[in-house]
Amino acid sequence: MSTPLFSFDNSYALMEGMSMPWQPAAVPAPRWLHLNRNLAGELGLDADALASDEGLAVFAGNRVPEGATPVAQAYAGHQFGGFSPQLGDGRALLLGEVLDARGQRRDIAFKGSGRTPFSRGGDGKAAVGPVLREVLISEAMHALGIPTTRSLAAVATGETVRRERPLPGAILTRVAASHIRVGSFQFFAARNDTDRVRQLAEHAIARHDPALVGREDRFLAFYEAVVQRQAKLVAQWMSVGFIHGVMNTDNMTVSGETIDYGPCAFMEAYDPQTVFSSIDTHGRYAFGNQPGIAQWNLARLAETLLPLFHSDDEQAVAAATRVLDGFGERFSAHWLNLHRLKLGLRSDGADDEADRTLVNELLQRMHEHRVDFTLGFRRLSSVLRGAPQEWLTLWGDAHAAAGEWLAHWQRRLTAQGEPAAEVAARMDATNPLFIPRNHLVENALDAASESGDLRVFEHLLAIVTDPFTERSEHAPAALPGTPEQTQGYRTFCGT
Ligand code: AMP
Ligand code: MG
Repeated sequence: MSTPLFSFDNSYALMEGMSMPWQPAAVPAPRWLHLNRNLAGELGLDADALASDEGLAVFAGNRVPEGATPVAQAYAGHQFGGFSPQLGDGRALLLGEVLDARGQRRDIAFKGSGRTPFSRGGDGKAAVGPVLREVLISEAMHALGIPTTRSLAAVATGETVRRERPLPGAILTRVAASHIRVGSFQFFAARNDTDRVRQLAEHAIARHDPALVGREDRFLAFYEAVVQRQAKLVAQWMSVGFIHGVMNTDNMTVSGETIDYGPCAFMEAYDPQTVFSSIDTHGRYAFGNQPGIAQWNLARLAETLLPLFHSDDEQAVAAATRVLDGFGERFSAHWLNLHRLKLGLRSDGADDEADRTLVNELLQRMHEHRVDFTLGFRRLSSVLRGAPQEWLTLWGDAHAAAGEWLAHWQRRLTAQGEPAAEVAARMDATNPLFIPRNHLVENALDAASESGDLRVFEHLLAIVTDPFTERSEHAPAALPGTPEQTQGYRTFCGT
């Protein structure tokens, strides 16, 4: 008998009433799209064994691996502000959990593995394009040092899925610290099932904040930990120009990992009002709204946990409000630190307000002159290397506005008294050169989806998973799209 592909150690599926046992649907003709060998290693899995025909059958949902207890998880959620008491895994399945090479518990889950009891009108399927998009963007986020669910495998199913037009079907295998969302708590709170809210909270604490286990104030401390993780996460998104696109409460984890890569995209020309999602007509999830929305979602989480905070309603609300009010300050502190790093500024002994103004003055000018967010920061190091033209060309004919800010920045750096080369090297390790540019992502997905050609995808994946290292052969991939490529760019949920 061959050794099992995974050593499952399942805990979520054992909790009664939180999920429903279910099986992935069989698919006709599985074909590899991608296997993430590095991640397999990180998970303590044998990548060669996963790359076998047996692995392909597993990732296609055609063979449930030994030790798996596949379940569809129940959750609710506020979608664009409106509450749906019952969403749940309509096209996903939690296969099981493994302990990774560092002993951390990680979920192994499918996306696109067929209908479940939570599917409502949907077909439970996913298409090649959106699946590869999640691989590209999630792995790029990981390479940027941003907490995220990961992509272990993607396979084409040989099926056709019906969207606006027929598309080739696919299944993604997603890895997450857990799939527990704000919406998971909302599901039970909406049913006044405080016992299950408590049980889920205990489970989440054991998983994500084990230091709190057994503490009397653990529920409030857990809530505070979630608020802190989200404040940091959203600050990290903002520091690379990432727009999640669909920050519904069912798409916000308590682990602090970015989850659910649907209509997400990276901003090119800096504009805080940027929205790419085709369904976000009011700009609820625009780039600049993300911190406010995160806080709004966290208020919804607090509402579910109130009975655990205190037996007295008023005291529970007061405690939750204290914690939630801390979000803004935490977010701002992370934001400032991250942007200081982007500008090569040290924080020791520095004036927070002066530095905040310096960053905001750059952003304001970038907005006004539609400067590419990524290159607007990345190429600043060229100024320190004596080649200011590389940065100045980003400003069109607005050299005066750019130069004025540059003088402020250089004065601040001089006061810091570090060799320019050192600062430049540090900045290049912080400001990515390569992000998944929208036009490149579209090209890669089109080639894979229309003609089954994976080379463009693989090439782009290699570029964006090494985002800080300059490689002259990839120079064009660092550039923003042309106006024809970027104007009116729209993303879709991929459902
Ligand atoms: P999402 O927009 O991916 O966060 O999904 C929101 C809800 O819709 C979740 O409950 C999903 O499981 C469900 N859903 C999305 N797409 C499908 C689909 N093709 N079939 C069934 N359920 C879906
Ligand atoms: Mg979702």
